[in-house]
Amino acid sequence: MSFSKLGLSQQIQTTIAKLGYETPTPVQAQAIPMVLAKRDVMAGAQTGTGKTGAFALPIIDMLSAQASQSNAIRGLVLTPTRELAQQVCKSFVEYAQGTDLKIGLAYGGVSLNPQIKALKDGCDILVATPGRLLDLLFKGTFDLDSIEHLVFDEADRMLDMGFMVDIKRILKRVPDERQTMLFSATFDQAIFDLSKRLLNQPELIEVAQRNTTASEIEQIIYNVDEDKKRELTSFMIGSKNWQQVLIFVRTRQGAEALAKEMCKDGVKAQSIHGDKSQGAREKALEEFKSGKTRALVATDVAARGLDIEQLNYVINYELPYIAEDYIHRIGRTGRAGNSGLAVSLMSIDEEWLLEEIENILDTKLPQAWYPGYEPDLNKKPSNNKNSKSNQKRRAKDRAFGNKSHANKRRSSGRSNKR
Ligand code: AMP
Repeated sequence: MSFSKLGLSQQIQTTIAKLGYETPTPVQAQAIPMVLAKRDVMAGAQTGTGKTGAFALPIIDMLSAQASQSNAIRGLVLTPTRELAQQVCKSFVEYAQGTDLKIGLAYGGVSLNPQIKALKDGCDILVATPGRLLDLLFKGTFDLDSIEHLVFDEADRMLDMGFMVDIKRILKRVPDERQTMLFSATFDQAIFDLSKRLLNQPELIEVAQRNTTASEIEQIIYNVDEDKKRELTSFMIGSKNWQQVLIFVRTRQGAEALAKEMCKDGVKAQSIHGDKSQGAREKALEEFKSGKTRALVATDVAARGLDIEQLNYVINYELPYIAEDYIHRIGRTGRAGNSGLAVSLMSIDEEWLLEEIENILDTKLPQAWYPGYEPDLNKKPSNNKNSKSNQKRRAKDRAFGNKSHANKRRSSGRSNKR
C-alpha cells in the first residue's frame, strides 16, 4: 500500500514524502479514505501506530482545499492531556506545512491570555483539552459554530479522567451536521456507549485486536522483592547501558522519590508528574529527549501523549491498578514499527494486578528471575488485613466500586492528577 492510493492531494503527499514516511501505517491505510469520504470513524489504535496522521492528514487535506472564513475554527481535536495536545498540535503543524492553515493549541495549567490572543488572530484547526476549551468558550473568545471535523483522541483516557461532563457541554456547542472521529487504544462498553452518543453510522476500524499490545514489543515480568526493585532498576540500566528509559510508577511521591534515589545510584533520572509545573514537566521531557537525563520516572497521567521517538525501553516499576494502563505504558516503546522492550518488576503482592492485565490481554506474559535479584522464596503474600496490597485493593475498590473498576470510575468526577 502506498500513500498515493489513499486519495490524498499531491500537496499532502509531498509533505509526507518530506517527512520520510514511505508507507501508510495500517490505521492510516484504513482510516484516511474513510475520513476523506466524510464518514464518521471509530478507530481502535494504540499510541505509536501513526493514528495522529490517520485523522490529521485527511482533515488538513479537506480544509486546505476550501477557502477559510475569517477566524472560524473548522477542525477541533480533543485530547485528555496537555502533553498529548502538544504532541498532536506538533504533528498538525508538520503535516500542514505548505498550506495556509493555522493550527491552534489550548490546554490548562498555563495563562489563558496568550491562548485567547492566538485564537483571536485566527485558527482553522484547534487542538485542545476539554477543560481549557470550555474556559475559553465561557470567555466568549470564539464559538464552535463552524466545526466541520471533530476528533476525540484517546477517548478511553478522556472517560477515565472524568471528562464526560465537559464533553457533553462541548457537544452542545458544535453543529449536529459534522464529521466525528473517535480514536481509542482500548474498547469497552463505556466507549461504545460514548460512540452511540457521538457518531453517526461510523466505520469501525480495528487494526490490532482489541486491547492488545503492539507485537513488536517484547514483554518480560521479573519476580522481585519490593525492596530490591530500585537497586535492580539502576543495575539493569547501568549494566545493559540503556540510554533512554521510561519508568512508570503509580504515585507522584513515588516518582519523585525514585528519581532522587536513582541519581544517588549514579543514573541520571528526573520525574514527571501532576505536582510539577508545566514548565518543569517540559524541561524534564526535553532533557530526557536530548539525552541529558537517562531515565524519566512518570505517573500514568503525566506520561500520556509523550511521543519520544525511538524509545526502546519501558520499565513498569510498579504494575498499574488499571489494567488498561499497562497497554498505554508499554505503547510508549516499539513506536512506528521500532522494536521495544517492556520490563515489569512484580513483587509478590502485585500478582493480582498481573492477573487483571493478563485477563484483558487474554494472554500469559513470560515471567523470570533476574540473576542476583531472585525473590526470597520464603516470603508469603501479605494477606493480613492491613497489608499494603490489601489496603490498596480496598482503597481501589472504595474508589471505583468493586464490580467494574473502570466503569464506576468513569462516572465519577474529574481527577486528572495521579
Ligand atoms: P502516533 O501514533 O500518531 O503518535 O505516531 C507515532 C510516530 O510515528 C510519530 O513519531 C510519527 O511521526 C510516526 N509516523 C506516523 N506515521 C508514519 C508513517 N506512515 N511512516 C513512518 N512514521 C510514521
